Amino acid sequence: MINIAIDGPSGAGKSTISKLLAKRLGIAYIDTGAMYRALALFALEQGVSPCDEAGVVAILDNARIHFNYNSLGMRIFLNDRDVSEDIRRHEVSKAASDISKIPAVRDRLVALQRESASRADCVLDGRDIGSNVLPHARYKFYLTASAEERASRRFKELREKGADVDYDQVLKDIIDRDKNDMERAYAPLIKTDDAVLIDSTSLTIEQTVDEIARRIDKDGI
Ligand code: C5P
Repeated sequence: MINIAIDGPSGAGKSTISKLLAKRLGIAYIDTGAMYRALALFALEQGVSPCDEAGVVAILDNARIHFNYNSLGMRIFLNDRDVSEDIRRHEVSKAASDISKIPAVRDRLVALQRESASRADCVLDGRDIGSNVLPHARYKFYLTASAEERASRRFKELREKGADVDYDQVLKDIIDRDKNDMERAYAPLIKTDDAVLIDSTSLTIEQTVDEIARRIDKDGI
């Protein structure tokens, strides 16, 4: 199977870019962040703090996560309930970052990701795809942009959705999540030496997809 790993910090545009790239190549797209978000939502709904490792481990077996595809793209299910919209809520983002530090959570979701990637050619986006989930992926990219640029994109997106947000708060959230993801002990966000660095600070979405596709086309899929 051909796997394309796209890692990078929050708000770098990984999911938008990965979705477009997968469509252009005619292969599947797997959003691994959605899996952490679904487990985080489960913990919040069960009244368990995503920082409480023992509490989360105790409820882990009660959460069945799976995904499939419809005309809207990849849909994520928590115990057969489609939670694709619920997991985008602001409080779930922070909770996902916290719950993803727990090794038992990562082991569970990494197994699901590896199994899914072995069944179809796909683009996977996340934080540890190239470094941990699929170290032998055919292509690895590390997509980033400055924290200010990522914050202003996120701010614009939230404003367009009608959310009452403050730019400084969005920037602070981005910086906090970067720190959380890069400094965790288990499978932190890192750029591996064999990943191609793509800095999208001054690139449009189309230019970023072109840049990645060009490198893939070079060697053929
Ligand atoms: O990509 P997204 O922002 O939806 O991911 C939510 C959170 O899940 C991230 O902040 C990160 O902490 C965690 N995550 C992870 N490993 C992945 C994907 C996401 O730790 N492969």
